[in-house]
Amino acid sequence: MSADYRVRPLLLGWGVIKAGIRVSPVFKTRGEAEGWLERHLAGRAPASRSCMSCAAPFDSAGLHDRLCPRCGLAGHNLHSDASATAWPGRHERRETV
Ligand SMILES: [Zn+2]
Repeated sequence: MSADYRVRPLLLGWGVIKAGIRVSPVFKTRGEAEGWLERHLAGRAPASRSCMSCAAPFDSAGLHDRLCPRCGLAGHNLHSDASATAWPGRHERRETV
C-alpha cells in the first residue's frame, strides 16, 4: 500500500522515512522499524472493522474507532442521566461501596 514509506538504515539504527523525512523513532534493528511501520499503517488506515459491541462490520476511521456509529451513540446514551448530558466527554461515576 503506502509505497512512500521506507525502512532505512540511519547513523544510529533504523528508521522509517517518508518523502526524505524520518517519521518514526530510531530503532536498533530493522525488524523493530518494520514493526513500527506496520502498526503505523494499520492504525492509520481506515478499514472495515467489526464493532466491539455488536460485531457488525463498519467503516472504522482507525484503530481507535472500535464501535459502529450505532453503538457509539448507544454507549453515550447508556450512561447519560440529566446531570451528565452537558459534556460529551467522560462522566464516570466513582461509587465507593
Ligand atoms: Zn455496534
